[in-house]
Amino acid sequence: MTTTLITGGTVVSATGRGLADVLVDGEKIAAVLEPGSQLLGSDLTRAVDTVIDATGKYVIPGGVDAHTHMEMPFGGTFASDTFETGTRAAAWGGTTSIVDFVVQYPDQNILDQHQLWQEKAAGACAIDYGFHQILSDVQSSSLTAMDELVAEGVTSFKLFTAYKGVFLSDDGQIFRAFQKGAENGAMMMMHAENGSIIDVLQQQALEAGHTSPEWHGLTRPWQTEEEATHRVISIADLTGAPLYVVHVSAKQAVEQIAAARDRGMNVFGETCPQYLYLSLEEHLAAKSAEWGDFEGAKYVCSTPIRSREHGHQDAMWQSLRTNDIQMVSTDHCPFCMKEQKELGRDSFAKIPNGMGSVENRMDLMYQGVVDGRITLERWVEITSTTPARMFGMYGRKGVIQPGADADIVVYDPKGHTSIGVGGAHHMNLDYSAWEGFEIDGHVDVVLSRGSVVVDESGYVGRAGHGRYIKRGLSQYLS
Ligand SMILES: [Zn+2]
Repeated sequence: MTTTLITGGTVVSATGRGLADVLVDGEKIAAVLEPGSQLLGSDLTRAVDTVIDATGKYVIPGGVDAHTHMEMPFGGTFASDTFETGTRAAAWGGTTSIVDFVVQYPDQNILDQHQLWQEKAAGACAIDYGFHQILSDVQSSSLTAMDELVAEGVTSFKLFTAYKGVFLSDDGQIFRAFQKGAENGAMMMMHAENGSIIDVLQQQALEAGHTSPEWHGLTRPWQTEEEATHRVISIADLTGAPLYVVHVSAKQAVEQIAAARDRGMNVFGETCPQYLYLSLEEHLAAKSAEWGDFEGAKYVCSTPIRSREHGHQDAMWQSLRTNDIQMVSTDHCPFCMKEQKELGRDSFAKIPNGMGSVENRMDLMYQGVVDGRITLERWVEITSTTPARMFGMYGRKGVIQPGADADIVVYDPKGHTSIGVGGAHHMNLDYSAWEGFEIDGHVDVVLSRGSVVVDESGYVGRAGHGRYIKRGLSQYLS
C-alpha cells in the first residue's frame, strides 16, 4: 500500500473550508490533519511515499457525474465516447465517478441489458462507475427484475414521457414502475417532457418547411416540460415513490419541483451546465461559416436549451442557490458533427440528441463561483457531495473524511483553462459546445481511489482502474 500526503491546501467540503493536510493510505483517506502535522504519536508516523504540494489550492472530493451516456445506441448511431474515452476525459476534468444509464428498448430484458453494460464498462474505465437502469416498456418481468437490480446496486430507474416508440412510457406504465419504487425504495428518475405534443409540433414545423436546428427548441416549448413535470410529481404523490427529475431546464418546471418539495415530498431535480450558460438565440439558432444554419446542431439536446425570454438561465442559477434544484450533472451524450449530427441535416428531428460535457462540468461550475453565482462550498455540494448522497454512495464518494475512497482533486484557483477543441479537449468529439469558454481555475491533480490519474504531466491513469460502484438507496429519503 502506498501512502500520499496532500499538504498545504484548503480542504473544501459542502459545509466549510479550512487549511488541512490529507493523508491517503492505499485506496482510502486515512486522516485529515492539522496543517504541518508531524504525525507523531500514532500509527501514521511512518514516512509517506509521495507528497503533493497543494499550497494555495483547493482540495476537494472528486466530482460525481450522475448522468452520462457512454457509447449509448440512439437514433441509428452510438454516442461517440466509449467507457474508455469518456471516463478518461472525465478524469481530466476532475470527475472521479460517473453513473451511466443502461439502455432498455421495448421488448428487451433489463437483466440482460444490465449484464451487457457491465461487460462494456469492465476493464475500460479510468474512474469508478455505477449504473442507473432505463425502463422503456414496463414489462411485468421488469418489475420483478427491479428488485434484483436494487440488490446489485442499481437503485435508480429512469422513465420517459417523450420519444414515442423508443423510450416513452404511458402514465399507467410509469405508475406501475413508481409503485415498485415506493415498495423497494429505488429512486424513480424522469425525463419529463410531453412527447405527444412535441411530436405534433415537430410534424407541423417540418410540414411548414422548417428544418433547421433552432426548431428543435421551438417545438419543445417550456409548457411541455412544465406539464410533464407536474404529471410525474402527481404520480410520485399517488404512489409515494421518491422522484428525481433529470435535466431540468425550464423555470416553470423548477416551480413545480419547488412546490412539491414545499409540500414535503421526496422530489429532487437536476440541471446541467448547458441550461445555465447556453440559449436558443445564441446557440441553437447560431450560424457559422463551416456549418451555415446547421451550426445549432451542436447544441441539440433534450430537454432543449431555452430562450433567454422568461429568464430560464438565471432561474436555473437561482434554483441552485435556493436548493430548489439540488445538483448538476452533464447528461453527457456526445455525437460528432461529421456523420452523426449530420444525420439531421435535412430535418432537425433527426439530429442525434446530446452534448458532450463530462470533461468540463467541474470547471464550468467553478466559473459560477468566480462569477458570484454560487459559493465555493455549494460548488462542491452540487457537483460531488449531493450526487453521491442522492444515489447512495455518500461516505465512500463525495466527501474528504477518514474511511472515504481517496477520490481527490487539487484545484488551482489561480490557474486557467481554455475549453474546447482549440483547448485540446479529451472527449472523443469533433467539436465542443463550450468552444471559447475561459475558466479562471484549473484541475491540477486528480486521485482516483488513491492513485494519481492526472497530474502536471497529463493523464497517468489506465483503462480498467475504475471499478463498479454497488450503490445503496438514496441517502436523502425522508
Ligand atoms: Zn440523459
